[in-house]
Parts: sequence; structure tokens; C-alpha cells
Amino acid sequence: MKARMGTTRLGPAERSAALAEMAARELDLVVVGGGVVGAGVALDAATRGLDVGLLEARDFASGTSSRSSKLIHGGLRYLEQLNFDLVREALQERALLMQRVAPHLVRPVPFLLPLTHFAWERPYVGAGLALYDSLGFSFGFTRGVPGHRHLSRQRALRLAPALRRAAFTGAVQYWDAQVDDARYVTTMLRTAASYGAHVASRAQVVGFLREGERVTGVRVRDLEGGAEIDVHARQVVNATGVWTDDIQGLVGGRGQIHVRASKGIHLVVPRDRIHSHTGIILRTEKSVLFVIPWGRHWIIGTTDTEWSLDKAHPAASRSDIDYVLDHVNAVLAVPLTRDDVEGVYAGLRPLLAGESDETSKLSREHVVAHPVPGLVMIAGGKYTTYRVMARDAVDAVAHGLDQRVPPSCTDRVPLAGAEGHQALWNSRHRLAKSAGLHVARIEHLLQRYGTLIEEVLALIEEDPSLAGPLAGADDYLRAEIVYAATHEGARHLDDVLARRTHISIETFHRGLAVAREAAELVAGPLGWDDDQIDREVSYYTKRVEAERASQEEDTDHEADAIRLGAPEIVPVDTPVPPP
Ligand SMILES: Cc1cc2nc3c(=O)[nH]c(=O)nc-3n(C[C@H](O)[C@H](O)[C@H](O)COP(=O)(O)OP(=O)(O)OC[C@H]3O[C@@H](n4cnc5c(N)ncnc54)[C@H](O)[C@@H]3O)c2cc1C
Repeated sequence: MKARMGTTRLGPAERSAALAEMAARELDLVVVGGGVVGAGVALDAATRGLDVGLLEARDFASGTSSRSSKLIHGGLRYLEQLNFDLVREALQERALLMQRVAPHLVRPVPFLLPLTHFAWERPYVGAGLALYDSLGFSFGFTRGVPGHRHLSRQRALRLAPALRRAAFTGAVQYWDAQVDDARYVTTMLRTAASYGAHVASRAQVVGFLREGERVTGVRVRDLEGGAEIDVHARQVVNATGVWTDDIQGLVGGRGQIHVRASKGIHLVVPRDRIHSHTGIILRTEKSVLFVIPWGRHWIIGTTDTEWSLDKAHPAASRSDIDYVLDHVNAVLAVPLTRDDVEGVYAGLRPLLAGESDETSKLSREHVVAHPVPGLVMIAGGKYTTYRVMARDAVDAVAHGLDQRVPPSCTDRVPLAGAEGHQALWNSRHRLAKSAGLHVARIEHLLQRYGTLIEEVLALIEEDPSLAGPLAGADDYLRAEIVYAATHEGARHLDDVLARRTHISIETFHRGLAVAREAAELVAGPLGWDDDQIDREVSYYTKRVEAERASQEEDTDHEADAIRLGAPEIVPVDTPVPPP
């Protein structure tokens, strides 16, 4: 176990070393799944002094954890369902993440809630938001965001001129928080690795090691090299989200947790298509629709429909896209068309299967189960409460270990890049001058890396050609692409364009115009020759083409069939349960 010294890189050499370490000895704990929950478990365990490994079959955060609404929130609709405990817990987490754990990554965002009824709605919504604000106070922390305020239609129109005057009667504005969901997971994994966790992506768990009934580890396929290794651990945590039942199948038996998938899609449109200084939240028949500010874009979503098709690449159909456009256009003075849509993404909520048939009413709370000795399953919950889920899972692990394990301390562990962030932000003009970059660039980098910006700037110092933006995605510097491969665990072009950056949803070309430049930039660190560069660009191109074509199809089945037509650069088998 090493003492924490700086922030560990997640480059190719570190991945090989992590796999070798995991194969070499019995760990205290191995975590299956590198989404926000698995990453949270790895960090929680490592900071309690446990020897922990984490295995992710695809790219880190490539499941649900890069496809959310990217909000750290209590959830107004849970308030409406009178689930006060869930809302309170989530709002306390919001304050903690924003103020201590990751102030560089989690920031406040305002929402305008247009009212449509004259008499009863304002007192009803006002009372709900007053409660929402008050539940946000927690011991030792302020709420971290301004309180709600009532607005006349006139004042609301000044904040959001894009709204159609006749579509509402007045409004209430409140605040929540937002995060780059994929980036948060990678940052958490780098933090965990800095505290001694061994983490590897493209490492699929294909079976469990057993001694009688007891689970004693996992069999892993290294999808980059093809080798299989056994990882022995005193406890295994399954944190595979919508894949929970598949993993349960590998263990055998009926299982104590069942997870259903519900699909939600989002559209990304350029910021100038909707003239507003605030996010907007709209009520829909089933749930809510958000219009969320996202850099030079808006993210609009989401939907909530049952999904039983491919879990790795859920497809958005034409009907999903029309649903979102119809609902947002109901309040806009100038309607959006499909031509305004830069990007589309779909994700699957891991919902604990309950009594209700309607997915939007299934529980968002989490459960921890212990189906057989040596195995802990954690599922459900939501992004905002990952830390609480991780704590509960590691508490269950501690119970199964024959030793005293200290309590969780992740409420006091800032993520990599957090410490000193405010001071650096305050000095951004000086930093811009010394780095020879515009202050707007420095702000962009600080909001993505916090104090780890130093590492990105060091790459530029070594090779000044990295100081320029990508031709065709000029929000991002060439250095950020290299950094994704050297420090942030990206192994393929798709990892870089879809998760370390969001070029795949933030440009009308969906990343195609920068694919070759980005591939050439990461070729050195990842050891690619010209053939591999061509292969990566070709796979990425097919992926984008298949996604675009699937979005023209009316039904989920048609969209899924077309999306699956594009091959994966590293195929992941569906686990086959033992006979
Ligand atoms: C549309 C939508 C919007 C949402 N919006 C919000 C929001 O705004 N705020 C909020 O708080 N929550 C939100 N959520 C919920 C939140 O995103 C999820 O609860 C959370 O991301 C789930 O994380 P996870 O780690 O459980 O699952 P995942 O992120 O899916 O991670 C599971 C991982 O396990 C890996 N895996 C599977 N099988 C194996 C194997 N055999 N070996 C190794 N690895 C394996 C997968 O590849 C995957 O990466 C939203 C969800 C959706 C779908």
C-alpha cells in the first residue's frame, strides 16, 4: 500500500501494472464495474486502508454514468412523491460535493419553472421549493446555492426571452448543481489509484472463483490482449448497474436484487438556438423535461421508457427525439427542428424492479445484498448519492472481512484537482499570462481539471504545438486529447471523443471532422501504428453512421437493430451463465 504522493496517472503502463498487481496476490476487495458506483466503492475502500482492485469491461463510465442529465440534485419529482428522506440525503450530498469533495467539477445551475395555472400553482410550487431549499441545509454546510425566487411573467421573459409569452403565466426560479458525469468518474478513479487502488478498463469479469459456496474472486478477460487472469479477493462487490442480473446469472441461484432498465434520451443543441440566461424545467405527463445550460450548448431531456434490448449501446429512436422536441417546443417562441440537433445520447437507468409497471415510479433508492458469502451486490440509487451507496457497500464488505475496518471517510476526501482550486481560479489571469493562453481557455481547463491543469500545461510546455485547439472542435486543446491517453485511461478514439471530451455530442459532425487528428495525437502514447490509426477512425466513423441511422427509425427495435450494425473496436461478450 503506498502513501498518496501526487495524483496517479491512468496510462497504458499503469493499466498493465494494475492487472499484474491484481493477479499477483489476494486482495481485500475487487470491484466489478467502473461506473460512478464502482469508482465510489474503490475510493471508499482505498481510503479505509483496504487493498482494492476495480475491473471495468469497457471504458470507465461508458455505461449509464456518462449518459445522465448530469445533474447533482435532490430531484423535485421525488419531493412530489413525498420521498423526503431521499431528497434530503441527495441535497446533503449536493452541498458536500460542491463545497468540499469536488468544487472544481460540481457547480450551481439555475432553473426556471414556468407556471401555467393562475390560481393554485404558484403557492403549490412555492411551498415545494421552499421545502426543497430547506432540506438542502446540512450540518456544517450551507446549501451552496441561492434560494428560490418568484417571478412575474415579465421578469421571467427577461431571463428567458426564448419562452413563448402565451405558454405561461409566471415562473419560479430555483438552483441545483451540475457535473460532467464521465469526467467525475475518471477523476474519482485517479483519486482512488492515488490512494493505492488498482484499476483497469477493458477487463471483463467472465466468471467467479468459488470455494464451495463462497466467492473467492473473479476470472477476468483482458480485452486488449485476450489473456484470462484470476483475481483472488476476500470480498467481491458487484456494481454493474443495468448489468446486475447478468452478473447475478454468473453466480447462479435466483438472486436477491433485480434491476430493470429504463431508457432516457437527451438532445444537445447550440446555445444560440435558445435565448435564455437560465436553465428551464418543464412538467410532462410522466415526469419532467430539463433544458440545461452546458458550455456553448443546451442539453434537453429526458424520456423514460422501458428498455430490454442491447444494454451497451441503447439507441434513441425518431419517436424519442420527436417526444423531446414536441415538449420543449410547446414553450418556445421559435421552435427547434431536427436540424438544430447537434448530438443525441441515450442511457439506461438501473431501477430496482418493483411492483409498479411504470418505470418512472420505480424506486430510485439503492439496496445492498449479500447473496452468497464473499459477494456484495449494490444497485439502484442515482448519480448524486453514489458516495452513500459506496459507503453502504464497503460497510457490508467490512462485515464480511475478518478484521476491523475504519468507517468511511470519503466525506473528507477531496477528489484529485480539488485542493487549491479556488486559489488557482482566483489567479487565473496570472496563470493565463504565464501559460501564454487566453484566460477563457484557462477557465475551461480549470473547470475540467482543477489544479491538475498543471499537468496539461506541462504537456504544452514540452510541445507547444499542443497549445492550439482541435481543428473542428475548438473548445478543446490538442493537449487535452494527449492527456486523455497519458493520464486519464482513454484507450480508444471513442473514449476520447465521447467521454474524456464530449465532442461526439457537441458538434454537428459528431466528431468525424476531428477523428483523424485526435487519433494521430493519441497514437504515440497508446503505441498505435498507421494501421491502428486507420482502424480506430474507421470504427468511430461506423459508430457515428449507425447512431445517425438508428435515430431515423421509428421504434426501439428498429433503432437497436441498426445501431448494432456497427462493430465494437473491442468486442465484449455477453456473459454466459454456467449450466
Ligand atoms: C437518462 C438518465 C438521466 C439521469 N440523470 C441523472 C441525474 O441528472 N442525476 C442523478 O443523480 N442521476 C441521474 N441518473 C442516474 C445515474 O446516471 C445512474 O444511477 C448512475 O450513473 C448508475 O451508475 P452505476 O455505476 O450503477 O452504473 P454504470 O455507470 O452503468 O456502471 C456499470 C459498469 O459496469 C460495467 N460492467 C458490466 N458488466 C461487467 C463485467 N462483466 N465486467 C466488468 N465490468 C462490467 C459496465 O460496462 C458499466 O461501465 C440518470 C440516468 C439516466 C439513464
